[in-house]
Parts: sequence; C-alpha cells; structure tokens
Amino acid sequence: MISVSNDDSAVPVSQALFARAKAVSPGGVNSPVRAFRAVGGTPRFMASGSGAFLTDVDGNRYVDLVSSWGPLLLGHAHPEVIAAVNDAVSRGTSFGTPSEPEVLLAEEIVARAPAEQVRLVSSGTEATMSAIRLARGFTGRDLIIKFAGCYHGHVDALLAEAGSGLVTLGLPGTPGVPKEVAATTVVLPYNDRAAVEAAFAEYGDQVACLITEAAAGNMGTVPPLPGFNAFLAQICRKHNALFISDEVMTGFRVSRSGHWGLDGAVEGWKPDLVTFGKVMGGGFPAAAFGGRSDIMDHLAPVGPVYQAGTLSGNPVATTAGLATLRLATADVYAKPDRTAARIGAMASEALAAEGVAHVVQGAGNLFSVFWGVTDTVTDFAGAQAQEAWRYGAFFHAMLDAGVYLPPSAFESWFVSAAFDDQVLNIIAGALPAAAKAAARATPDKPLPNQ
Ligand SMILES: *Cc1c(COP(=O)(O)O)cnc(C)c1O
Repeated sequence: MISVSNDDSAVPVSQALFARAKAVSPGGVNSPVRAFRAVGGTPRFMASGSGAFLTDVDGNRYVDLVSSWGPLLLGHAHPEVIAAVNDAVSRGTSFGTPSEPEVLLAEEIVARAPAEQVRLVSSGTEATMSAIRLARGFTGRDLIIKFAGCYHGHVDALLAEAGSGLVTLGLPGTPGVPKEVAATTVVLPYNDRAAVEAAFAEYGDQVACLITEAAAGNMGTVPPLPGFNAFLAQICRKHNALFISDEVMTGFRVSRSGHWGLDGAVEGWKPDLVTFGKVMGGGFPAAAFGGRSDIMDHLAPVGPVYQAGTLSGNPVATTAGLATLRLATADVYAKPDRTAARIGAMASEALAAEGVAHVVQGAGNLFSVFWGVTDTVTDFAGAQAQEAWRYGAFFHAMLDAGVYLPPSAFESWFVSAAFDDQVLNIIAGALPAAAKAAARATPDKPLPNQ
C-alpha cells in the first residue's frame, strides 16, 4: 500500500505527492506529458488499475482512455497476464543469459509481422535508435528522412523538427542535440509525396533510411493517405535506402500484424525494418526491432553493428508480452475497433450539439479529436493549426466526471478490450458537460495552476 503523510485532509493525496515529487524529480514526473502542463492542474497519482479503470491515491476511479499510452490492449491487470507474470517472477527476475520466453516472444512476433528476425530491447526509443544505427551500418550512408510530427522516441537524430521550406536539413528540436547530429536528419511534411520525391532527388545516394510511423499517432491520429506507405517502400527501394516502419504504437494494437496488417499485407509490400514496443511488452519495458534477415545479419555477434542490453529479453517482460499477444485473438481486435468508433462518434455528437467545430480521425482503434478545424488533418502543420486551447477545459470536465483522457490535444486516445457498455455509458454521461466546457473555452484564459 502507498502510505503518504497527509496531515491536511483538505489536500488531495495526489497534490501532496506531486509537491514531494517536484522536490526530487524535474517537474515531478519521469516523462514530461504526465505533468499536465498542456491541460493545467495537478496530475493524478494512480494506485491501481483493473480492466478499463484506473484508481488514484485519493480513491477516485476513472475510465482509462490512455491505456498506459497504448500497451494495455487487454486492459489493466488482465488475470491471465498477471498469473503468467507471477509465475515468471517466482523463478527469478533476470538471468543475463538467453532464456525460453524471449524465443517464444520472437517467434510470435515473426509469425505476425513483416520481420524474418527480431532483436529484443527495453524501450521503443532503443528500438528506433538501434534500427537507425543498423540502417546506417548496412548502407554505409548517414542521412535519415523523417516526417514532422512523427515521434520515434527521444533519439537525438529523431528529435529534429522541420525548418521552413519544402526540404530542410533539420534543426535540433531540443537543446542537447549537436547540430551536426540534427543535420543528418531531413524532416518532411507527412503525407507529402512531392516532398519525399524532392528529398530523394536531392539526397538520394546519401539516404540510409526513411523512418515513418506506420500511422501517425503522436500528433493526434493522422493516418497515412491511401497508398502513402506503399509509395514510401517503393521510393526507398529505388534509391537503395531502407524503409523503417515504426510500429511501436500501432504494432499488435490495430491488428494482429500491426498497421502493416491493414496496408502492406493487403497491398503486397514489406518494410525493410520495423520497430515494436508498447503492446508487445504487456505493460513491461520490452520492445523490438526486426526485418529482413540479410540486414539483421549485420548486427553483432553475426555482423559488425554493435547493439546490446543488460535487461534485453528480460524473462518477466517477455513473459508478459507473450501472454498479452497470445490473448490478442481476432475477437479481441474486433472489440476495440468497435469501441473506438463508438466513442469517436459519441464525442463528435456531443461537440456538434454545442457547436464546436472538430474532426475525429482514426487509424484502426487509435483515434483523436482535432479542435476547431473543419478539414481532415493530414500533416503536422494541420495538427498545429487546431484550437488546442479548447482541450484543457474539455479534459478537466471529463476528468471530473471520471474519464481519464490523454493530458494533451496532440495525443491519440487508447481504448482496450476491457471496455464494455457500462464503460461507454460513463463516457456518454461525461461528454455533454465537457463539450459545453470546450465551447466556452477561450484562447487567452490561463490554465489552472500547477
Ligand atoms: C512511444 C513511441 C516510441 C518510443 O517508445 P518508448 O518506449 O517511449 O521509448 C517510438 N515510436 C513511436 C511511434 C511511439 O509511439
């Protein structure tokens, strides 16, 4: 149990914990968006999760539309996942040697995804970082192409953001990234074929790889236009650059084969390398990168490209991931797809009733609302043009009514297979007041105090 000294019973425990956290951690959090800066107010410290619900340290219960940012496809504390984890933990937490669960998990991934081989790592950031190193080692080239608004973890070269102009060599998106590193990244507008063609025309023989989210989910949900991913695979092949599909968010969430199951598997193309994380760890730190075995053969110990990890393939994490994937049957995938569509439609109806212009966009069971826009959002500039200031008011009204949404307008909403009619009713009950709050919001009103 959590024990918190909290003499003043008027102060919520979350608030007391946040004050203590701020004293010992920058911003009181271990990942920035959790601090509620984009929506104002105090982050809720969670004590437990069960099915579709989170419970905070003050005993408040919330429908969870974050699902740990994607991993919890089955909901919180799925009994069979917990049983598998307990069983694994009782036999030891880490061996620093190969073990059976990592073989089983790799086999499960290879059976589902466009990868002949995979290397397991501990975070999505590590997966994309390693995939890029491998692409550079394999091609002997340095340049990377990425899209503005696509997030691939906090890898130095991938934090570069678009400058002005159609084809720009990236500028660092954060202090701490040497400009020489940022300059190895070309940042282009998402869904813009002409920009991709122009970049390859200019830099083609220097491009090691193009990396893209399989469907962009980190600027809100912005799906690839029909045929866009196939086009990327094709133009990379033409220029002998590797096509890296980042499925850390979509992988094993939007179909049993990730987003590739919705486009590449149908259209008949494969990425050269693919990255996974989130769902495949079942709520534990586990991720992977994989792809063509002739490329993967360049990794140590077979080849010269170095990559390693003390906890890579950890027996508890891989057991949780394997249990999760084995439970993720066709039925399980059908349910979150329906749930996501229902919630999107309910939110849309509530906002329309209050006259709030908006667009709901989805990719499989990922979806999000863009505020104050009337046209489909296809790139980062479009996402940034929304009235994100409406979101704080909406977010807090939902939170007060027991619905936990992502604390930023630029994040996707994540459902789980644990959502049932009772859960949908709670959301339906919360939406009208939240839509009213969004309608009344103004751009100049400061966010509630931190
Ligand atoms: C979450 C995410 C990452 C980073 O994964 P971490 O485990 O947070 O390091 C990379 N790529 C995409 C598409 C993601 O959504």
